[in-house]
Amino acid sequence: MNYVELEEFLAKKINHARIDVIGTSVLKRYLYAVTFDFLSSQTVIIQGAIHAREHITTDLICELIKNASENYQKYKLMGMPNIVFVPMVNPDGVELCCHGLASVRSLTRRRVLKSINGSTDFSQFKANANGVDLNNNFDAKWGSGKESCFVASPHGFVGEAPMSEPEVQSLALFTMKIKPFFTISYHAKGQEIYYEFFNKLENRKRDKRIAKLISKATYYKIVSTENSSSGGYKDWCVLRFGIPAVTIEVGKDSLLHPISRAALGQIYRRNKNILKALPKILMEFENDRKRKNDAARTKRGKESV
Ligand SMILES: [Zn+2]
Repeated sequence: MNYVELEEFLAKKINHARIDVIGTSVLKRYLYAVTFDFLSSQTVIIQGAIHAREHITTDLICELIKNASENYQKYKLMGMPNIVFVPMVNPDGVELCCHGLASVRSLTRRRVLKSINGSTDFSQFKANANGVDLNNNFDAKWGSGKESCFVASPHGFVGEAPMSEPEVQSLALFTMKIKPFFTISYHAKGQEIYYEFFNKLENRKRDKRIAKLISKATYYKIVSTENSSSGGYKDWCVLRFGIPAVTIEVGKDSLLHPISRAALGQIYRRNKNILKALPKILMEFENDRKRKNDAARTKRGKESV
């Protein structure tokens, strides 16, 4: 789905949803957030298309938005946390991927982008309009990943500084405001789940249990990476807030980038149970917090004796 199609989707009435603009891209396109308030004290953020050519994840998130809207009353009774969907974090990159340089007004920027990309075919582009890989730009052991690149590129460039890009700043500020208990980052492809990034010792069991709940809902396999990436949104959420966060790579590995909409039905079928898993994930999170609080109280009690 491209940016114009996303705006068309959001222009139609979506029952029970609130739509906000949480920031703008390098080329001043809007970053949208779609919120479902289930009257919970906790919120989950689900974001997609931070990598341009993975815009099938925007289609998937729009399907999940429809699902949340249609089942709102049922989900509220299930103890659903509030859900904020950010369907397209990198609209400039997605437009480049879908429409090439015609999507860029400034002739100077067109020239620069053509030289960064090495051709006028942007179908494999992952970065934003500055040639920065937004999922390497977060302040989470920035620049230390195995595949970090230090020059503007279709993928991998970490940026001039951590958090240098407006899209990253917007999503980071929004996340700090919302204080989610859990985040999901949708990427493509490989049908895999990642959840590790220097997780604190005391959170490791909880985070693994939560990754397993995601695996159970999607039948995707959990991959242990032991910190090989860096600067990703999931990485930043784990490191900065100590919350569980997962990256879900959707779509079979045999599919080609960008994944065509013909695969959406199959991808949605594997992901539609994610929403039903959220109350269980929230319960897991709350139980773990209670266990830690009880243990701290017992420890304090022993110390004061
Ligand atoms: Zn990706």
